[in-house]
Amino acid sequence: MKKDRIFTPGPTPVPLPVGLSQVRMVHHRSPEFGELLGRVLDGLKYVFQTDNEVLLFTSSGTGAMEGAVANCFSPGDRVAVFCGGKFGERLADISESFGLDVIRVSYEWGQSADPLTAEKLLEENRDLKGVMLTQSETSTGAVNDVEAFGRVVSGSDALFVVDAISGLGAVQFKTDDWNVDVAVSGSQKALMTPPGLAFAALSDKAWKAVERATLPSYYFCFKTARETQQKKPPQTPFTPAITLVQALDQAIEMMKREGLTQIFARHRLLAEATQAAVEALGLRFVAADRSRAFVTTSVWSPEGVDSGDLVRLMRNEYGVFIAGGQGKLKGKIFRLGHVGYFDGFDIVAQVSALEMALGRLGYRFEVGSGVAAAQGVLVDGQEVQ
Ligand SMILES: *Cc1c(COP(=O)(O)O)cnc(C)c1O
Repeated sequence: MKKDRIFTPGPTPVPLPVGLSQVRMVHHRSPEFGELLGRVLDGLKYVFQTDNEVLLFTSSGTGAMEGAVANCFSPGDRVAVFCGGKFGERLADISESFGLDVIRVSYEWGQSADPLTAEKLLEENRDLKGVMLTQSETSTGAVNDVEAFGRVVSGSDALFVVDAISGLGAVQFKTDDWNVDVAVSGSQKALMTPPGLAFAALSDKAWKAVERATLPSYYFCFKTARETQQKKPPQTPFTPAITLVQALDQAIEMMKREGLTQIFARHRLLAEATQAAVEALGLRFVAADRSRAFVTTSVWSPEGVDSGDLVRLMRNEYGVFIAGGQGKLKGKIFRLGHVGYFDGFDIVAQVSALEMALGRLGYRFEVGSGVAAAQGVLVDGQEVQ
């Protein structure tokens, strides 16, 4: 017998009360659901740290990314999209498929985006309608300085659009204080809920852009979503994933009980324990700057070890699901997960399975050194736990 353990950066493990809340289903036009939806929408404001309405959609996170493009821009609008990994590229791809004039600001995968580049672009392109950034680039583990970008973009007419799908609820993200005009996220990463819900929070500046924008949208129409959500009691325009909203209600309840400050401290501690293990095993990180990289830890597979083989061995032999590389990093890197419902023992188990698999694939290191390093960090960090 072996237990399956999910350590991927999405979907992430679902706490028991969150999973169990989906057993019973209520009707979405019942007063009971209205009350539930109202509580969830309020809770999302807490998680996004915003006073604005957070829109809720039934889709994976990409739906909200598409909605952001379709609702805020018009064909031919020039936008700068920062691409330092698979998800930055997705933002650029969506923008291109909707007919925007996209400046792809490509930087090396694993590096962080430079806010000075945004400043220069805004100076050189007075007609720039948007700057788009991925907060936590899940494909490389790098986490960008959203606050610094927000300072730069807020001084212009451009909208600041941020994909916070894996970062929101794991590392600090202040939608309002950081001048984020459109923040999008999803249910299946730090929010500890199964996949299927997407969110978008818009500033006043963004809502004004929505009024002017001419691209069509229907299922992801932000204005319709807002109007319907503002009914008393709140509703959704179409049948929502009712049981997922119930699940999210439980997850947000757990997040409020732990508190954002403590949640961020926990993610940081678990990331630092993972980083210590990786260093002890003599492996190299993909993310150059690890001072904010607390969402997922991406690691170069050792010389001669295909990371796909490592991922498969861990899954098939030990039931441990970690992620491999995406796009051009396929086969080259593996990604250790600690976003969402994770504690110290999850890290110890994950590192332990990693050591066992690396040993079997012929990599030489001192067995137990990764686990010991992780434990060392966890013991030192006990007071913040
Ligand atoms: C997971 C993720 C997405 C969205 O993926 P979906 O499969 O559509 O939920 C987008 N951006 C980032 C940074 C992600 O981590």
